[in-house]
Amino acid sequence: MYIFHKKSDVQHWIEKIKKEGHSIGFVPTMGALHHGHLALFQEAALHCQSITGSIFVNPTQFNEAADFNQYPKTLHSDIYKLNTLTSCHALYAPEPDDIYEDSALFDFDLDGLDQVWEGAFRPGHYKGVVNVVDRLFRIFSPDHVFFGQKDFQQCRVIEKLIEKRFPNIRFHQVPTVRESSGLALSSRNIRLSADELKKAEEIPVILAEMASMAPHSAPSDIKSYGENVFRHVGFELDYIEITDQRNLKEIHDWHSPSVILFAGKLPSVRLIDNWLIPAFPNMSL
Ligand code: AMP
Repeated sequence: MYIFHKKSDVQHWIEKIKKEGHSIGFVPTMGALHHGHLALFQEAALHCQSITGSIFVNPTQFNEAADFNQYPKTLHSDIYKLNTLTSCHALYAPEPDDIYEDSALFDFDLDGLDQVWEGAFRPGHYKGVVNVVDRLFRIFSPDHVFFGQKDFQQCRVIEKLIEKRFPNIRFHQVPTVRESSGLALSSRNIRLSADELKKAEEIPVILAEMASMAPHSAPSDIKSYGENVFRHVGFELDYIEITDQRNLKEIHDWHSPSVILFAGKLPSVRLIDNWLIPAFPNMSL
Protein backbone atom coordinates (compact mmCIF):
# COMPACT_ATOMS: atom_id res chain seq x y z
CA MET A 1 0.00 0.00 0.00
CA TYR A 2 1.30 3.46 -0.92
CA ILE A 3 1.15 6.00 1.89
CA PHE A 4 0.94 9.65 0.87
CA HIS A 5 1.02 12.72 3.07
CA LYS A 6 0.77 15.32 0.27
CA LYS A 7 -2.20 15.73 -2.04
CA SER A 8 0.12 16.44 -5.01
CA ASP A 9 1.57 12.93 -4.58
CA VAL A 10 -1.92 11.41 -4.45
CA GLN A 11 -2.90 13.26 -7.60
CA HIS A 12 0.19 12.02 -9.53
CA TRP A 13 -0.59 8.47 -8.53
CA ILE A 14 -4.28 8.81 -9.44
CA GLU A 15 -3.35 10.19 -12.88
CA LYS A 16 -1.20 7.13 -13.52
CA ILE A 17 -3.90 4.73 -12.33
CA LYS A 18 -6.57 6.41 -14.45
CA LYS A 19 -4.33 6.08 -17.54
CA GLU A 20 -4.26 2.34 -16.87
CA GLY A 21 -8.05 2.41 -17.05
CA HIS A 22 -8.67 1.40 -13.42
CA SER A 23 -11.85 2.38 -11.62
CA ILE A 24 -11.16 4.09 -8.29
CA GLY A 25 -12.97 3.40 -5.04
CA PHE A 26 -12.47 5.80 -2.15
CA VAL A 27 -13.15 5.41 1.60
CA PRO A 28 -12.69 8.52 3.78
CA THR A 29 -12.10 7.91 7.50
CA MET A 30 -10.78 9.62 10.61
CA GLY A 31 -8.70 6.58 11.57
CA ALA A 32 -8.77 4.50 14.80
CA LEU A 33 -9.94 1.85 12.36
CA HIS A 34 -12.24 -0.97 13.43
CA HIS A 35 -14.16 -3.64 11.54
CA GLY A 36 -16.84 -1.11 10.56
CA HIS A 37 -14.25 0.86 8.61
CA LEU A 38 -12.70 -2.29 7.21
CA ALA A 39 -16.12 -3.38 5.88
CA LEU A 40 -16.12 -0.23 3.72
CA PHE A 41 -12.76 -1.20 2.19
CA GLN A 42 -14.00 -4.76 1.68
CA GLU A 43 -17.12 -3.48 -0.09
CA ALA A 44 -14.92 -1.23 -2.26
CA ALA A 45 -12.96 -4.29 -3.37
CA LEU A 46 -16.18 -5.75 -4.82
CA HIS A 47 -16.74 -2.74 -7.10
CA CYS A 48 -13.37 -1.20 -8.01
CA GLN A 49 -9.95 -2.11 -9.31
CA SER A 50 -7.99 0.48 -7.30
CA ILE A 51 -8.96 0.99 -3.68
CA THR A 52 -8.00 4.16 -1.85
CA GLY A 53 -8.68 5.70 1.53
CA SER A 54 -7.85 8.61 3.75
CA ILE A 55 -7.15 9.00 7.44
CA PHE A 56 -7.64 12.55 8.61
CA VAL A 57 -9.12 13.73 11.90
CA ASN A 58 -10.87 16.71 10.36
CA PRO A 59 -10.78 19.63 12.81
CA THR A 60 -13.53 21.58 11.03
CA GLN A 61 -16.23 18.99 11.74
CA PHE A 62 -15.75 18.91 15.52
CA ASN A 63 -17.98 21.33 17.37
CA GLU A 64 -16.29 20.60 20.72
CA ALA A 65 -12.54 21.06 21.22
CA ALA A 66 -12.51 18.33 23.92
CA ASP A 67 -13.99 15.78 21.51
CA PHE A 68 -11.33 16.66 18.89
CA ASN A 69 -8.50 16.51 21.44
CA GLN A 70 -9.65 13.13 22.79
CA TYR A 71 -10.19 11.58 19.35
CA PRO A 72 -7.89 8.52 19.16
CA LYS A 73 -4.96 8.80 16.74
CA THR A 74 -3.50 5.40 15.87
CA LEU A 75 -1.94 5.80 12.41
CA HIS A 76 0.64 2.99 12.74
CA SER A 77 -1.85 0.32 13.75
CA ASP A 78 -4.34 1.66 11.17
CA ILE A 79 -1.76 1.17 8.42
CA TYR A 80 -1.06 -2.34 9.71
CA LYS A 81 -4.81 -3.18 9.60
CA LEU A 82 -5.23 -1.81 6.08
CA ASN A 83 -2.16 -3.74 4.90
CA THR A 84 -3.18 -7.04 6.46
CA LEU A 85 -6.99 -7.01 6.36
CA THR A 86 -7.91 -5.07 3.21
CA SER A 87 -6.68 -4.70 -0.35
CA CYS A 88 -6.29 -0.92 -0.05
CA HIS A 89 -3.75 0.28 -2.63
CA ALA A 90 -3.16 3.86 -1.52
CA LEU A 91 -3.73 5.82 1.67
CA TYR A 92 -3.67 9.59 2.14
CA ALA A 93 -2.84 10.71 5.71
CA PRO A 94 -2.33 14.48 5.54
CA GLU A 95 -1.75 17.28 8.03
CA PRO A 96 -4.55 19.91 8.06
CA ASP A 97 -2.45 22.41 6.03
CA ASP A 98 -2.24 20.08 3.06
CA ILE A 99 -6.04 19.95 2.79
CA TYR A 100 -7.02 23.46 3.86
CA GLU A 101 -4.12 25.75 2.86
CA ASP A 102 -5.37 26.94 -0.56
CA SER A 103 -9.02 27.70 0.17
CA ALA A 104 -11.41 29.11 2.77
CA LEU A 105 -14.35 27.05 4.08
CA PHE A 106 -17.41 27.39 1.85
CA ASP A 107 -21.14 27.19 2.62
CA PHE A 108 -23.15 24.68 0.64
CA ASP A 109 -26.92 24.37 0.27
CA LEU A 110 -27.88 20.83 1.32
CA ASP A 111 -31.63 21.47 0.99
CA GLY A 112 -31.99 21.52 4.78
CA LEU A 113 -30.49 18.06 5.40
CA ASP A 114 -27.74 19.64 7.51
CA GLN A 115 -30.12 21.70 9.67
CA VAL A 116 -31.94 18.88 11.49
CA TRP A 117 -31.00 16.22 14.10
CA GLU A 118 -27.17 15.94 14.18
CA GLY A 119 -26.95 19.26 12.37
CA ALA A 120 -29.09 20.99 14.99
CA PHE A 121 -27.16 19.52 17.92
CA ARG A 122 -23.70 19.96 16.38
CA PRO A 123 -23.73 23.38 14.71
CA GLY A 124 -21.21 23.59 11.86
CA HIS A 125 -20.60 19.82 11.86
CA TYR A 126 -21.90 19.15 8.34
CA LYS A 127 -20.23 22.27 6.97
CA GLY A 128 -16.95 20.72 8.16
CA VAL A 129 -17.88 17.32 6.73
CA VAL A 130 -18.84 18.78 3.35
CA ASN A 131 -15.70 20.92 3.20
CA VAL A 132 -13.38 18.01 3.83
CA VAL A 133 -15.24 15.47 1.68
CA ASP A 134 -15.48 17.91 -1.23
CA ARG A 135 -11.70 18.48 -1.10
CA LEU A 136 -11.01 14.74 -0.79
CA PHE A 137 -13.28 13.94 -3.76
CA ARG A 138 -11.37 16.52 -5.86
CA ILE A 139 -8.02 15.01 -4.86
CA PHE A 140 -9.04 11.39 -5.58
CA SER A 141 -11.55 11.83 -8.45
CA PRO A 142 -13.15 8.54 -7.39
CA ASP A 143 -15.66 6.54 -9.43
CA HIS A 144 -17.19 4.96 -6.31
CA VAL A 145 -17.28 6.13 -2.69
CA PHE A 146 -18.19 4.14 0.43
CA PHE A 147 -19.82 5.46 3.60
CA GLY A 148 -21.28 3.69 6.65
CA GLN A 149 -24.97 3.52 7.48
CA LYS A 150 -23.80 4.09 11.09
CA ASP A 151 -23.77 7.81 10.21
CA PHE A 152 -27.12 7.75 8.46
CA GLN A 153 -27.64 11.50 8.19
CA GLN A 154 -24.09 11.91 6.90
CA CYS A 155 -24.95 9.43 4.13
CA ARG A 156 -27.87 11.62 3.03
CA VAL A 157 -25.70 14.76 3.21
CA ILE A 158 -22.98 13.16 1.06
CA GLU A 159 -25.55 11.88 -1.46
CA LYS A 160 -26.83 15.46 -1.77
CA LEU A 161 -23.27 16.78 -2.25
CA ILE A 162 -22.73 14.16 -4.96
CA GLU A 163 -26.06 14.94 -6.65
CA LYS A 164 -25.19 18.65 -6.85
CA ARG A 165 -21.41 18.67 -7.42
CA PHE A 166 -20.12 15.21 -8.40
CA PRO A 167 -22.77 13.58 -10.59
CA ASN A 168 -20.30 10.97 -11.90
CA ILE A 169 -19.52 9.49 -8.49
CA ARG A 170 -21.48 6.43 -7.40
CA PHE A 171 -22.40 6.44 -3.71
CA HIS A 172 -22.51 3.22 -1.63
CA GLN A 173 -24.05 2.92 1.84
CA VAL A 174 -22.55 0.01 3.78
CA PRO A 175 -24.55 -1.59 6.65
CA THR A 176 -23.49 -0.88 10.23
CA VAL A 177 -21.06 -3.40 11.70
CA ARG A 178 -21.94 -4.31 15.29
CA GLU A 179 -20.39 -6.11 18.27
CA SER A 180 -21.98 -9.47 19.13
CA SER A 181 -23.99 -7.51 21.75
CA GLY A 182 -25.42 -5.40 18.92
CA LEU A 183 -23.53 -2.25 19.90
CA ALA A 184 -22.46 -0.39 16.76
CA LEU A 185 -18.66 -0.27 16.43
CA SER A 186 -17.37 3.26 16.96
CA SER A 187 -13.94 4.79 17.50
CA ARG A 188 -15.43 6.54 20.55
CA ASN A 189 -16.51 3.29 22.29
CA ILE A 190 -13.09 2.99 23.98
CA ARG A 191 -14.05 5.93 26.18
CA LEU A 192 -16.95 3.97 27.76
CA SER A 193 -16.53 2.78 31.36
CA ALA A 194 -17.72 -0.78 32.17
CA ASP A 195 -21.00 0.61 33.51
CA GLU A 196 -21.49 2.87 30.47
CA LEU A 197 -20.74 -0.04 28.13
CA LYS A 198 -23.66 -1.97 29.66
CA LYS A 199 -25.92 1.02 29.06
CA ALA A 200 -24.61 1.51 25.52
CA GLU A 201 -25.40 -2.13 24.76
CA GLU A 202 -29.06 -1.33 25.44
CA ILE A 203 -29.15 1.02 22.41
CA PRO A 204 -29.62 -1.65 19.70
CA VAL A 205 -32.00 -3.62 21.93
CA ILE A 206 -34.28 -0.62 22.40
CA LEU A 207 -34.06 0.44 18.75
CA ALA A 208 -34.93 -3.08 17.57
CA GLU A 209 -37.85 -3.19 19.99
CA MET A 210 -39.11 0.17 18.74
CA ALA A 211 -38.82 -1.01 15.12
CA SER A 212 -40.78 -4.16 15.97
CA MET A 213 -43.71 -2.00 17.15
CA ALA A 214 -44.22 -0.76 13.57
CA PRO A 215 -46.61 -0.71 11.79
CA HIS A 216 -49.25 -1.40 14.46
CA SER A 217 -48.34 1.56 16.66
CA ALA A 218 -48.15 5.18 15.51
CA PRO A 219 -44.67 6.68 15.00
CA SER A 220 -45.34 9.29 17.71
CA ASP A 221 -46.26 6.58 20.24
CA ILE A 222 -43.15 4.56 19.44
CA LYS A 223 -41.04 7.70 19.77
CA SER A 224 -42.52 8.45 23.24
CA TYR A 225 -41.91 4.86 24.28
CA GLY A 226 -38.26 5.09 23.15
CA GLU A 227 -37.73 8.41 24.96
CA ASN A 228 -38.96 6.92 28.22
CA VAL A 229 -36.88 3.75 27.97
CA PHE A 230 -33.65 5.55 26.99
CA ARG A 231 -34.06 8.00 29.88
CA HIS A 232 -34.78 5.13 32.25
CA VAL A 233 -31.53 3.41 31.19
CA GLY A 234 -29.64 6.62 32.02
CA PHE A 235 -29.15 8.43 28.71
CA GLU A 236 -29.38 12.17 28.37
CA LEU A 237 -31.21 12.23 25.04
CA ASP A 238 -30.31 14.66 22.28
CA TYR A 239 -32.98 13.16 20.04
CA ILE A 240 -34.85 10.00 19.18
CA GLU A 241 -36.85 10.51 15.99
CA ILE A 242 -38.57 8.39 13.37
CA THR A 243 -38.03 9.98 9.97
CA ASP A 244 -38.37 9.30 6.28
CA GLN A 245 -35.15 7.60 5.10
CA ARG A 246 -34.71 9.99 2.18
CA ASN A 247 -35.58 13.48 3.39
CA LEU A 248 -35.12 12.93 7.16
CA LYS A 249 -38.48 14.56 7.90
CA GLU A 250 -40.59 13.18 10.75
CA ILE A 251 -43.16 10.65 9.56
CA HIS A 252 -46.79 10.30 10.65
CA ASP A 253 -47.64 7.01 8.92
CA TRP A 254 -45.72 3.99 7.61
CA HIS A 255 -46.12 4.63 3.87
CA SER A 256 -42.43 5.25 3.12
CA PRO A 257 -39.23 3.55 4.31
CA SER A 258 -38.27 5.14 7.62
CA VAL A 259 -35.41 5.17 10.08
CA ILE A 260 -35.16 5.63 13.83
CA LEU A 261 -32.40 8.15 14.54
CA PHE A 262 -30.86 8.16 18.02
CA ALA A 263 -28.31 10.43 19.71
CA GLY A 264 -27.75 10.23 23.45
CA LYS A 265 -25.12 11.10 26.00
CA LEU A 266 -23.53 9.11 28.80
CA PRO A 267 -21.14 10.99 31.07
CA SER A 268 -18.02 10.01 29.04
CA VAL A 269 -19.28 9.94 25.49
CA ARG A 270 -22.07 10.89 23.12
CA LEU A 271 -23.30 8.00 20.96
CA ILE A 272 -25.40 7.83 17.79
CA ASP A 273 -27.10 4.89 16.15
CA ASN A 274 -30.06 4.21 13.84
CA TRP A 275 -32.44 1.43 12.82
CA LEU A 276 -34.18 1.01 9.47
CA ILE A 277 -37.91 0.29 9.19
CA PRO A 278 -39.35 -0.82 5.84
CA ALA A 279 -42.40 0.83 4.28
CA PHE A 280 -45.85 -0.63 4.98
CA PRO A 281 -47.64 1.05 2.05
CA ASN A 282 -51.05 -0.52 2.60
CA MET A 283 -51.16 0.00 6.34
CA SER A 284 -53.44 2.67 7.80
CA LEU A 285 -53.35 3.36 11.52
P1 AMP B 1 -15.21 7.93 10.89
O1 AMP B 1 -13.79 7.48 10.90
O2 AMP B 1 -15.91 7.76 12.19
O3 AMP B 1 -15.38 9.29 10.27
O4 AMP B 1 -15.96 6.94 9.92
C1 AMP B 1 -15.51 6.73 8.60
C2 AMP B 1 -16.54 5.94 7.88
O5 AMP B 1 -16.74 4.69 8.55
C3 AMP B 1 -17.91 6.64 7.83
O6 AMP B 1 -18.47 6.44 6.54
C4 AMP B 1 -18.68 5.90 8.91
O7 AMP B 1 -20.08 5.93 8.70
C5 AMP B 1 -18.13 4.50 8.75
N1 AMP B 1 -18.36 3.72 9.97
C6 AMP B 1 -18.07 4.07 11.25
N2 AMP B 1 -18.50 3.10 12.11
C7 AMP B 1 -19.07 2.14 11.36
C8 AMP B 1 -19.71 0.89 11.64
N3 AMP B 1 -19.84 0.45 12.90
N4 AMP B 1 -20.18 0.16 10.62
C9 AMP B 1 -20.05 0.60 9.33
N5 AMP B 1 -19.46 1.77 8.99
C10 AMP B 1 -18.97 2.53 9.99
